[in-house]
This record gives sequence, C-alpha cells and structure tokens, in this order.
Amino acid sequence: MGENGVVTDSGRCMECGAVGLDGFSCWELFGFPLVWEHNAPELYAFHFWLVSCYMIQHPSRFTEEGYRHLVRLFIDAYDQDWKTAYILKRNRELMKNIDKLTTPLPDQDRKRKPAFWSLTIEDIYLGGEQHAIANIMRWKERIRYELS
Ligand SMILES: [Zn+2]
Repeated sequence: MGENGVVTDSGRCMECGAVGLDGFSCWELFGFPLVWEHNAPELYAFHFWLVSCYMIQHPSRFTEEGYRHLVRLFIDAYDQDWKTAYILKRNRELMKNIDKLTTPLPDQDRKRKPAFWSLTIEDIYLGGEQHAIANIMRWKERIRYELS
C-alpha cells in the first residue's frame, strides 16, 4: 500500500479525523503499532483488532462489499468473543480475497466521507507501546459501540 491517504490543510485525516502528529500522517501513525507488535507476541495477539479498527475507520480503501465484509467479521468476532487463534484464521481467509475487497480506485479518485470517531490511531500512537494493548482494547469497544 504505502500511500498517505488524504489530509486537510491542518493535517487532519479526512476520514477518521485523526490529527497528524510529530510530522506523521494518519497512515504513518498506523505504522508504529505494527512495528511494536513485531517483538511483542502479547501485543501481536491483538493484530486483528488493530488492523480492523484502523481499516473500519477508513472505508475509502475498500469496495462497498469489502467494507461490509470487514465490519461483519469485526462484529462477529467481538460479539461472539472469538479466541485469537480463530480470529487470525478467519482474518487470513479474508486476506486471501483482499484484492477483491480493496478498492481499485487510485487514491485521488476515492470518495471520503468524514465520520466522527471518539478514538483513532492518534490515541494509539500517543499512548505509546506501553499502553498499546489497553488502548487497542478500548478502541475496539468504542468502535463496536459506534457501529451500532
Ligand atoms: Zn485516518
């Protein structure tokens, strides 16, 4: 992927509303917890939640069908309290079809609707590695609530 998404003049992400921090865009902030989890298996156990929380807040990356699929998987996993191994298995299955799920539109042609989310990648970044697990857990709870 390696794209920056679209930000407003103030550096705010047009989709999730995260503020760019320390010169990093929303997409770049997302790279931080992905690095943290490399050496922390207990954090990697939350990989699905980290990625799906971020992606749910950025619908323009997906086809309509792909986005629905992602939200469905998130809600099922949350409501049915799926165990990590099962989530990762289902996530791998989803990723096999990711080419069909992600939008073929180039970055500049994607439609972006600003949405209000009470917690974004900005909060995960600010909380730092030490609080990453607690913050990702809060993030998924908030998103589940805000999706309903
Ligand atoms: Zn964003």
